[in-house]
Amino acid sequence: MSGARAKVAFIGTGGTMSSLGAGPLDLNDYGATGQRLHADEILARFPETALVADVIPVRYRNVASPAVGFADWKALVLTVDRLAGAHPDLAGIVIGHGTATLEETAYALNLTVKAAVPVVLTGAQRPPSALSSDTGLNLLNAIRVAASPEARGMGVLVVLNDEIQAAREVAKTSTLRLQTFRSPDFGVLGHADGDGVAFYRRPLRRGAPDTEFDIRALDALPRVDIAYAHADADGVAVRAFVAAGARGIVSAGFAPGFPAPEQTEALAEAARQGVVVVQSTRVGSGRVVRTTRLAEQGFLVADNLTPQKARILLALALAAGAGRDEIARIFSEY
Ligand code: ASP
Repeated sequence: MSGARAKVAFIGTGGTMSSLGAGPLDLNDYGATGQRLHADEILARFPETALVADVIPVRYRNVASPAVGFADWKALVLTVDRLAGAHPDLAGIVIGHGTATLEETAYALNLTVKAAVPVVLTGAQRPPSALSSDTGLNLLNAIRVAASPEARGMGVLVVLNDEIQAAREVAKTSTLRLQTFRSPDFGVLGHADGDGVAFYRRPLRRGAPDTEFDIRALDALPRVDIAYAHADADGVAVRAFVAAGARGIVSAGFAPGFPAPEQTEALAEAARQGVVVVQSTRVGSGRVVRTTRLAEQGFLVADNLTPQKARILLALALAAGAGRDEIARIFSEY
């Protein structure tokens, strides 16, 4: 980038990229030390980040990402609003996040951030204290992407392992490998390399900041559960979800999109009672087509969203008061 250096905010929410292990060979058990760094402390450990932008550290709570959910999504949307308002010259915002639920937070923000500033999530597979940690370069690359004028209008982005991916499509696919984040069927949007950022394509589905969902007005999301299909699965979990007050259930079915027989009965019963059932699959790739059988059972389809992302979209749609036809439209647009 030429001329004035871009201003980028970095919000730290915790995760591996904030954790300190017992030593350089502590690659897996670092959670046991309980030591976590805040955003400013992570930046201080990687002073190279100051070479690519003026980075404003923003402290947030430091947690492992399995503990992240609706309350954090709302707080992050409000923080993005506040930063964009306070710094009219802000080029972009990076959010550091644990990798476990990173794809869910990225998609939730893609559905709810209304500020025009690019938002980029990053994380790490190895803590900053480990040999060959990916923390520093992932953070630096995310800052570069957030600072890039080309990142505008791309929706929320995810940057790890030199790759730029779309929030809607990306998934964590491996427990420990550095190349864990993948966008099945579609691939990366671009790369972050030593000489800068290169984009090759843009997402077409609706996303931030062009979204109809306003999380800022919500106190909670309606209960939406996920029913996982497997051989011999029965209707017990589905009936328990309904008894617990589920307003929606995402069926993580067999490919190309159906539950086990006893689950099907329980889900059809739930649909007759007004619970919105959305059929997805457990395979992590490919569309679910609206077959006659699914339509007769009263199920909607998740398109190609994974169950965990379909759950977020369904919850936001229900929170907005959408009925079945509206929900079907929403699944075809976002
Ligand atoms: N191992 C996870 C991570 O990569 C922990 C978490 O998700 O917070 O950050």
